[in-house]
Amino acid sequence: MAIKFKKKCWRCRKNYVTVTKRQRYATCYECQKKEMQGEIKDPKMKNMFDIPEEFYRNNSFLRDIKIKYLKFGNLTENQINAFKKVVKDLKKGDKK
Ligand SMILES: [Zn+2]
Repeated sequence: MAIKFKKKCWRCRKNYVTVTKRQRYATCYECQKKEMQGEIKDPKMKNMFDIPEEFYRNNSFLRDIKIKYLKFGNLTENQINAFKKVVKDLKKGDKK
């Protein structure tokens, strides 16, 4: 497991975000909410991004991936796999 710590959102300088050490910039859910809205046409991707809003709220990595996809229209295999892995782990954690 990567070490996680809290960092202040660089945009609003108000909310704290849980990040891993590799992340240089932290943006909170409130600031990214607007960017995460958009139509996803690819049914496969739509299905992948169809996860509880709670996951996006608690995980900045998932938010970043979704925003990247909405911006560029595609993701690398690695990004897709990482996204799925995080979601899987979160779902597992949910059951405990
Ligand atoms: Zn913010």
